[in-house]
Amino acid sequence: MERGHIFNPSYVLVTTPSLLFDMTVKPLEGMAEDSVLFVNSPKEVSIEQLKKIRVIYGDLTGLALKYVGKDILSAAMGAVACKLSGLISLQSTLGAVEEELAELGLETDIIEKNVQLAKECYLSTESVGLRGLNHKPLHKVVEVRYLGEKGIPDLLSVGNTALRKTGSWRVFKPIVDKNLCTACSICYIYCPEACISLDERGYPVINYDHCKGCLVCTTECPRNAIRVERETAWS
Ligand code: SF4
Ligand code: SF4
Repeated sequence: MERGHIFNPSYVLVTTPSLLFDMTVKPLEGMAEDSVLFVNSPKEVSIEQLKKIRVIYGDLTGLALKYVGKDILSAAMGAVACKLSGLISLQSTLGAVEEELAELGLETDIIEKNVQLAKECYLSTESVGLRGLNHKPLHKVVEVRYLGEKGIPDLLSVGNTALRKTGSWRVFKPIVDKNLCTACSICYIYCPEACISLDERGYPVINYDHCKGCLVCTTECPRNAIRVERETAWS
């Protein structure tokens, strides 16, 4: 239930390979040679830093589409993390998925689909075990201040929204079809990232540096004028 900094992780799970190249996220920082990296990707990624650590790949997005019909990865990533650790049984993992999703008020069939997804992810992942307790971190461990009852991390750098290119989070890309679009501006209003602007004729223009692929615009468009494509650069 905690959130905060982990300076020397035994293992790291990355939901999309594009984050490996993200200079703000730096997911590999603090990993040692005996750390394990799991990357959600159907194919291997070739970058220099990955040669020094153990990398495991799995196409969790593909499995989520197969079982749930959406790229919702929390149950899948959680199951992989449990199996990697070597500490949590299949029964406990599936029980936790069921319990957490029931708390959110999801319908029974959605919960069951997520349980089946978690089960396949768990069974298809090898267990690597956590690094030994005698591991000495390279960094000085500093106390992280928390607010409230549960962990809430401090913001270390404020006022940087425009610099943070959240386009690298995107798994699915929205594409406006101007033949169907009526320039009604609804997508422009609904985009939570404010990354849709309007051109001189009122048609939407998506800023892909900042569009994180939530697909709210696709859902809200009354003309079904925004189609969706899976990002191909990483998948
Ligand atoms: S996918 Fe989300 S972030 Fe991207 S343009 Fe649509 S509403 Fe905005
Ligand atoms: S909501 Fe659909 S029809 Fe309206 S401006 Fe956006 S893409 Fe065009």
